[in-house]
Amino acid sequence: MKAMVLERFREPLVQQTLPEPDIDAQEVLVRVRANGVCATDLKMVDGLVPAVRLPHVLGHEVAGEVVEVGQDVEGLRPGDHVTVYPTHGCGFCDVCRTGYENLCEGAPRTGFEVYGGFAEYMRTRGRNAVKIDDAVPFDEAAILPDAVAAPYHGVVRRGKVRVGETVVVIGVGGLGIHAVQIARIMGARVIAADVVSEKLRAAEEFGAEVVAADEEKGLAARVKELTNGLGADVVVECVSGDIVLDVLQQSAACLRIGGRLVVLGYAYGQPLSLDSADLIYGQWSILASRASTLQDVVDVARLVERGMLKPAVSERFPLEQANEALTCLRESSPLGRIVLTS
Ligand SMILES: [Zn+2]
Ligand SMILES: [Zn+2]
Repeated sequence: MKAMVLERFREPLVQQTLPEPDIDAQEVLVRVRANGVCATDLKMVDGLVPAVRLPHVLGHEVAGEVVEVGQDVEGLRPGDHVTVYPTHGCGFCDVCRTGYENLCEGAPRTGFEVYGGFAEYMRTRGRNAVKIDDAVPFDEAAILPDAVAAPYHGVVRRGKVRVGETVVVIGVGGLGIHAVQIARIMGARVIAADVVSEKLRAAEEFGAEVVAADEEKGLAARVKELTNGLGADVVVECVSGDIVLDVLQQSAACLRIGGRLVVLGYAYGQPLSLDSADLIYGQWSILASRASTLQDVVDVARLVERGMLKPAVSERFPLEQANEALTCLRESSPLGRIVLTS
């Protein structure tokens, strides 16, 4: 099978012919049809993700068609369309037993420790292959486990956004555009902030009020103005890269007393700095949100099947042009996900 392989860090992927993976009794073989390209893939190419051993096949946002089913797998048949939850939690530790397999220590993950979807075929555990209606296009299904389920985890499970609350989403990219929609589904008033006007227009289409993040008055002052001087109940930070430190400080400044800051965007080696007095007197909660759970992926799949949530795909590249797709992500900060198709 065709695969795009990371042979050396900080170098382009190399197209190779690899043997099709063998599956065990608990696994399924998936013919990969679409694969989301994530900022974490760039971190892997740059050699920043310690879990990655070379050679490696990237890709942790995968959708495709089941072609072979292990004998112990229930409920899946060849031909089923699936989206793949990447974390292979052990199933036995305390966090797995309470449904938080995203926190399972040492759990191998598709596209991290295990070969991912930048290839024609991929194996995964049957339990991780979430069936989705054939009417949902593969490129949209592919980005559910990360670009859609990660903000779902942040907004719903971590942020516990409630009806009538005001949620500020900072950064309307691959995560933020879905955070906006999910906060709306939960019944919140949503204010979206970004520096790119076309991203703000997109957020507006999903029912958000919008603020230019670089406006002179300052983001926090604008948010206070829009909330009778109070500030936001919840801020969802969806920006990654070197500006994340500055963005996190601005995010905290938007919070009302008792507010919650949900952190989704991060960068290695960027410490978070806040005035501890602000933290205490504001009684802020800082909630890091790590990836998603299997249940989150099932939830967003159902919302998408019912037309309540729209996965945002901005560009498509064939698998062989994975390097072009990675460069495009590195250089352009697109509104929605870039997706590889095969
Ligand atoms: Zn990712
Ligand atoms: Zn576990």
